[in-house]
Parts: sequence; C-alpha cells; structure tokens
Amino acid sequence: MRVAVVGAGYVGLVSGACFADFGHDVCCIDLDQSKIDALMAGRIPIFEPGLQEIVANNVRLGRLTFATEIAPAVRAADAVFIAVGTPSRRGDGFADLTYVRDAARDIAGAIEGYTVVVTKSTVPVGTGDEVERIIRDLRPDAEFSVVSNPEFLREGAAISDFKRPDRIIVGREDERAEAVMREIYRPLYLNQAPLLFTSRRTAELTKYAANAFLAVKITFINEIADLCEQVGANVQEIARGIGLDNRIGSKFLHAGPGYGGSCFPKDTLALTKTAQDNGISLRIVEAASQVNEQRKRTIARKVIKACGGSVRGMTIALLGLTFKPNTDDMRDAPSLSIIAALQDAGAKVRAYDPEGTDQARPLVDDVHFAQDPYDCAEGADALVIVTEWDAFRALDLERLKQTMRTPVLVDLRNIYDGAEVAQQGFAYESIRPVAPT
Ligand code: NAD
Repeated sequence: MRVAVVGAGYVGLVSGACFADFGHDVCCIDLDQSKIDALMAGRIPIFEPGLQEIVANNVRLGRLTFATEIAPAVRAADAVFIAVGTPSRRGDGFADLTYVRDAARDIAGAIEGYTVVVTKSTVPVGTGDEVERIIRDLRPDAEFSVVSNPEFLREGAAISDFKRPDRIIVGREDERAEAVMREIYRPLYLNQAPLLFTSRRTAELTKYAANAFLAVKITFINEIADLCEQVGANVQEIARGIGLDNRIGSKFLHAGPGYGGSCFPKDTLALTKTAQDNGISLRIVEAASQVNEQRKRTIARKVIKACGGSVRGMTIALLGLTFKPNTDDMRDAPSLSIIAALQDAGAKVRAYDPEGTDQARPLVDDVHFAQDPYDCAEGADALVIVTEWDAFRALDLERLKQTMRTPVLVDLRNIYDGAEVAQQGFAYESIRPVAPT
C-alpha cells in the first residue's frame, strides 16, 4: 500500500516508520522544515527508543521518505493519515482543531483516485464528519472515505506498542474504506492483534474514553495515597492488593506526583467540554482533572516538609523533568508545576534529565541544568526524584551525601527502600509511608 502521513511528530513518525517496516511505501510529511531536514540527514528529532534503527533501515530500503510538500505523496497514496497535534485551545480547553482542518484542506487539494483519509490524531467526536465536509466542499469530484483510527501508543514504548497493540480501532462508514484499512494492518492482524471495526463516531470517542479511564485510575490511587499518609497505611501494598484482582488490574496504580504529558491533561479536558456541549456532565472525569492539576503543584509541599517547613534560600535538586521516563516530551510535565511551586517558596532549583533538557530549557526560568545526578545534587538541601528514569534507580547514596549540603531524599516515585536510604544517613520522604506496626 502507498501511505502518506501528515505530521511527523511522536505519533506520525512512529506510525510512518512502522507502516514502512510492515512493507508499505510511506512518505512522512511535516510543515516543519527543520524536522524534515533532520530526518533527511538521518537524525531523529525526538527521543524514542528503537526509532532511529527502524527509520534508518526503512530509509535504506527505500520504503520511507520525507517531504515538506504534501501534494506528491497524497496524490500517490491509497491512504493518508492525519497525525498532527490537537492541543488544548487557549481559553476554553476544547481540542484545537486548526492543524487538523489545515491538513484536511491540504489533502483535499491533492487527492487523486480513491483515497482513504484517516484521522489518527486524537479528535473530538464528530471531527471525521467535519474533515469529510471540508474535503467534499473543496473537491466535490474527489473519491474518498474518511476513517477514524485513533492511536494508543505510549511514548517511551511507542514502537512495541504500535507493533504489538492490545487492539486497533477503526471507525469507518463504508466497506471500501474497511478493506483498505484491513490491508494496511494485515501484518498485525496476522499476529492476532484484535482489529475492531466500529462507526467513525464510536472510534473517536473510544480514544477519549480510554484516556479518561486511565486518568481516573491514576487519580484514584493518588487520592488513596493521601489517605494512607493520614492513617499510616501503605499505598503500594494497597495497589498490589487491589491490582491482583483481575477486574481492576495492576497497571496505572502507581501513586506519584500526578499525571502529565501530551495526552491525559488535554484529552480529559476536551472530553468534559464535549460532554458539556452535549448537555452531559462527566463529573468523575472533571473531578480527576481538577484533583490532578492541584496535585502537580501541592506535591511540592512534600519537599518543603522534608526540608523542615521552608525552602527559602535553599537549593533543591530535581532528578527527572520529562513527564515519564524514556521520552524527551515535556508537555504538561508535573516537574514544571513543582519547579514553579518551589521557586515561589523561595528555593533555587537545579535539575537533571537524561533526555529532556533541551525541551525543558525554554519552559523554565532560573533553573541550573546539571550534567548528571551527582552534579545536580552538588550543594543541595534536598534531592527530589520526579521522574523514574532507570538511571536514578541505583544512585550511589554515599557519593550523593558527600556532595549535598543536607542529605534529604524526596522520592516522588517510590523507587527506593526508605529503611535502606535512612541507614545511609538520609532523611527520606516518599509517597509510601511505612505503616506503624
Ligand atoms: P507532535 O506535536 O509531536 O507532532 C505533530 C506534527 O504535526 C508536528 O511536527 C507539526 O509540525 C506537524 N504539523 C502540524 N500541522 C501540519 C500540517 N498541516 N501539515 C504537515 N504537518 C503538520 O504531536 P504528537 O504527540 O505526535 O500527537 C499527534 C496527535 O496524536 C495528537 O492528536 C495527540 O493527541 C495524538 N496522540 C499522541 C500520543 C503521544 O503519545 N504523543 C499518543 C496517542 C495519540
């Protein structure tokens, strides 16, 4: 199949590279000249484990190309995937569909022969109808179908998620489009990945329902963690105790500083807006959004408490800035709220992240970026683990103690054993207080 992917970001580039790996002939298009220049020069503009190899391999085999000009690739394509951003619209939090509409107009100008236009971006229910209207208005002669195929990959594990998905959801309104989508995903289907065909609106809403459910699950365990703290119970043991129940499942039950990233915050907000527009209130999702927003900032109080009630004039060292490990994505990362809260409380902030520094730099002021965890800890009054990169799981505590002004470790991801850390002479604070015996 000949495939064009519009938008070569986290989703577009991974999808394009994986489709090429399946044997399809793929062109990834992006408006951002610097991104395309980098890709053409063999550089990957984002950090995603395994992506470099798969891109290089498929470029070498001639199955993957890049362009800034949309028309040639769309003209030749059997299917065009829209994978542009759908950020929160400033002011009301609804999904900003500007990039999707622009992409639809660009595609309309170039369609030749029967083409399936696939929305892979996360878009509010009814957007497929709008994309269809835009193309139909501009090109009444065009032969095309509009399909919704939301993406469920996770940054940091994007390649394996794309190649071994729990399911593939395709929302289509006609059989011709279904046949093209079956052909595109045939290699995965042969691997038994469930390919679920639904109506277009159902597929669009399935994506939001999935993200909202996961956001609620994280928020739920975070609130249980707060209660644990008050009553002397252990939230990790509770997570295990409930997660072993198959009806609940163990994933997304790790208490922490609140969810961030490019999807959950904006998608929960967009979903509640869609519901409100339709006279429905999704109170559980609304509550999760609000609780999470607050938590990202209030979690800084843990640091302040660990430092004796005030951080004024102190130096706080943060390990991990990205919203989760194995990505360089800083969008809506909890670290941003934590940094702001600590600076508001009078602290100086030092930070280290294995991959996120370049993306973090323009988003924060007055932060000293360190070269490694030990450089970061130098002269600090507290070291705070914000993101659980593997590189932070076995730190040399003795070495840290020598370089810090005060040996205080605040572990917002519960990756250390409090008793062991205390034995090394550290004051230790986490989201898992040890229950009194
Ligand atoms: P991104 O910002 O990394 O990439 C979007 C790309 O689209 C950018 O490179 C931008 O330059 C390009 N672009 C915008 N308008 C264009 C146009 N008219 N023509 C060509 N290129 C254009 O975004 P992302 O993280 O890949 O997300 C894309 C969509 O996928 C969003 O709707 C998001 O919600 C959804 N999604 C993201 C993830 C994730 O983990 N990042 C997972 C699932 C779904």
